[in-house]
Amino acid sequence: MEALLREMESYAQENHVPIINEGARDAFCRIVCEERPHRVLELGTAIGYSALLMAGKGAEDIEIVSLELNEARAAKAREFIRRSSYKDRIQVLSGDAAELLGSLHGSFDFVFMDAAKGQYPRYFRQILPLLEKRAVILADNVLFRGYVLSKERPPRRFRTIAKRLREYIRVVQDTPGFTTEILQEGDGLAVSRRNGT
Ligand code: SAH
Ligand code: MG
Repeated sequence: MEALLREMESYAQENHVPIINEGARDAFCRIVCEERPHRVLELGTAIGYSALLMAGKGAEDIEIVSLELNEARAAKAREFIRRSSYKDRIQVLSGDAAELLGSLHGSFDFVFMDAAKGQYPRYFRQILPLLEKRAVILADNVLFRGYVLSKERPPRRFRTIAKRLREYIRVVQDTPGFTTEILQEGDGLAVSRRNGT
């Protein structure tokens, strides 16, 4: 498993695949270890790196459904996952996350949100009905290169993303039943815990 993860890290670096930032990896693993999730929904599989990390840190009976828009990446993810001992526990669905979410059933106790940054507020509304009463949503890249909390205006091409990420943070913070913590590690992680009521 360790060798496979190292190989994936090299592949990601060579092919410019934005797998979870090295600076955020420890925090990511710590949170997954603490939660030990059973049913995980991931938005943005890329090559399956974070999915395999979660599989190794979650509950014994973990099941992961992961959504990826890019066909080639989804295929690469399936290939890596097949070589692991979690091949029957991780399902990669290819397509647009917002569309796939509309056809998903079941309840999840953990969500890793890491697909289109500008869609986070929409994803949040879509996953709410799929969540268990006690659940955690971990959203990656919420500080987006520092632009989200900075008073300076981001460059034009990043403005919409920064605005949507601010909106995401506000919406989870304002949703009753959720407690949200923003971690500075990596590109920023938002940990939103639903407390079970
Ligand atoms: N979670 C992965 C990294 C994901 S990178 C890891 O840490 O290992 C973000 C991924 O989201 C990219 O592979 C990109 O293709 C995918 N993505 C972008 N827009 C998407 C969308 N609308 N629906 C699903 N996936 C999307
Ligand atoms: Mg990310």
